[in-house]
Amino acid sequence: MRALRISKLKFRTMNSFEGLNLSSPILQALKSKGYTEPTPVQQKAIPLILAGHDLFGSAQTGTGKTAAFALPLLQLMSTKKTSHRNVRTLVLAPTRELAIQISDSFHAYGKNLGLKHAVIYGGVSQHQQTMALKKGVDTIIATPGRLLDLMNQGFVKLNDVEFLVLDEADRMLDMGFIHDIKRIVSKVPHERQTLLFSATIPTAIKKLAHDLLRNPSSVDIKPEKSETKLVKQQIYLVEKNDKTGLLCKLIDDEPIAHALIFTRTRRGADKLVKALNQKGIRSQAIHGDKSQNQRQRVLADFKSKKVHMLVATDVASRGIDVKELSHVINYDMPEQSDTYTHRIGRTGRAGAEGIALSFCSREERGLLKDIQKYSSQNISVVKQIAEKNEAAFGSLSVDENSERTSYREQRNTPHTHQKGFKERNFQRFKSKKKFGPRSRVS
Ligand code: AMP
Repeated sequence: MRALRISKLKFRTMNSFEGLNLSSPILQALKSKGYTEPTPVQQKAIPLILAGHDLFGSAQTGTGKTAAFALPLLQLMSTKKTSHRNVRTLVLAPTRELAIQISDSFHAYGKNLGLKHAVIYGGVSQHQQTMALKKGVDTIIATPGRLLDLMNQGFVKLNDVEFLVLDEADRMLDMGFIHDIKRIVSKVPHERQTLLFSATIPTAIKKLAHDLLRNPSSVDIKPEKSETKLVKQQIYLVEKNDKTGLLCKLIDDEPIAHALIFTRTRRGADKLVKALNQKGIRSQAIHGDKSQNQRQRVLADFKSKKVHMLVATDVASRGIDVKELSHVINYDMPEQSDTYTHRIGRTGRAGAEGIALSFCSREERGLLKDIQKYSSQNISVVKQIAEKNEAAFGSLSVDENSERTSYREQRNTPHTHQKGFKERNFQRFKSKKKFGPRSRVS
């Protein structure tokens, strides 16, 4: 009985902001934001940060991770007053969009605390930013390039920083910020609390975490499984060189009006965009080689449906939150299994059904097997593009009830579409008999 009461109490405690020992000005701000209970990353991270631990957080945008670090840092700053108005918290973020988003969160959650913050990013005049800094701020939220620039001009001093946050650290590395980060961090006191968030954990991130964090606690939040439950998942076994043809055919047949398409490399994204545009399918790429302005423009065009297909690399696609996105297409299979879940979670959001199509070439079958092992859901719904292909993919789990699209079926299907690029494209795809005889299949 007593055990039951304790566990009930614990449950209630874990599931309320009050139970996380947040102060009443912060609780009031959360109430006016309409937040009723903390998300999993908040439940785990807030107590650790309030207790002064360094933190390695493996969580992507959309999990509530901004509040997971902003709330405890605001609380720590407000309860531990200082006589100076020098920068006490530094948050580094890869893009202007994310920096602004974090700044908005600090503003909303800290509205009853009287703390000040400034947001700093490139691509705009520095005047307003330097004016804000001159007045004195407790927190700076910045992209690395512009911050370093302002530091070099003497506008920013970091010698009183107590809290350092690196948000979306993997994306910052992907965007080439590692040297800027190192230069910035070298000006921050060693005696500090450091929080590092990254959605993926490649070797470079492990090394960065090792260099910057001291005895860190870690919090690992996987995207919610329920998000992907609403996603209908289909795998197409297709030769590498036939992927573009298959994509055009699916865009035509399904039809697919609006899709987020993932490629492995930036070059691959550009190449695919060129091919799609040549076929009259309005497409744009978003990846680390594009400037912030270009990325924002492309995203706005995609959201307003001026652009129909958005071709993205994994890291650049973060923060893309497009409502009513019906299709996600893995043109290249993701190299890490959890990336598959991140990618397909972009569709089927907020209770809507979504469709995720994945193109798996012969070379990528190992990746597919990993994903099948990793996923708790049935993703063995396989469409085969050619009968001859079967031997190559024979060892994969193929759902017997799934729909298979063979060349023969395609040939026998009366083609009723109007003439134009769709028809030409279909003919081109049909005529591409690239699949060799069984003996060629390894
Ligand atoms: P983030 O992962 O920080 O980008 O947050 C994703 C979205 O969730 C943002 O729009 C937040 O305002 C919202 N959010 C964060 N925490 C909560 C919460 N506890 N309850 C409801 N919404 C939240």
